[in-house]
Amino acid sequence: MDVSQFLIFLWRVIVEDMFLEQDKGKNTRKGWVEVIVGSMFSGKTEELIRRLNRARIAKLKVEIFKPAIDIRYDQEDVVSHNENTIRSTPVESSEQILLYANNVDVIGIDEAQFLDTQLGDVCNQLANSGVRVIVAGLDMDFQGRPFGSIPHLMAIAEYVTKVHAICMRCGSLAHFSHRTIENKNLVVLGETESYEPLCRECYCKVKDKN
Ligand code: ZN
Repeated sequence: MDVSQFLIFLWRVIVEDMFLEQDKGKNTRKGWVEVIVGSMFSGKTEELIRRLNRARIAKLKVEIFKPAIDIRYDQEDVVSHNENTIRSTPVESSEQILLYANNVDVIGIDEAQFLDTQLGDVCNQLANSGVRVIVAGLDMDFQGRPFGSIPHLMAIAEYVTKVHAICMRCGSLAHFSHRTIENKNLVVLGETESYEPLCRECYCKVKDKN
């Protein structure tokens, strides 16, 4: 094996084995926690849906939750920006998820930044009981501050994936969600009209102007 063959082998081990799906035949005692983070328009929900659909194809029992606060499009669907939908259950608190988690193999939680601080404990409890938990959420708020329970979840998770948007001003990779309207509230649920993804350089330029 030469160097390039070894590098390809290494790449396969890292990338292809990172999210080994549960094997239904194997009786794994413990589950685990995966976190998908990024800015607005980074494709977090698409990635969550992709993983959940694969679990479904494997005939695993999948449940999806989202905070009741996130009512952008539909009361019950997890809807990503490219309109992939998955039926989900809105929850008022993270502990509510435990009530619905009986006999479930995989649990998806979308927009997790809006859930309460118990979410880390809830995810650990689920994973310890054998559930694969996949959490998606914004890692930073519109001012670039770590958002809600997400930093905590990133610490306790086995796997963390940070996805990026494209900067609306220069085309670089973006990881800031810049709010384009004047509103100091932490939660403003809106779409293209209220936010733009920006890279660090463009985000700093905008901040310096204000
Ligand atoms: Zn930029």
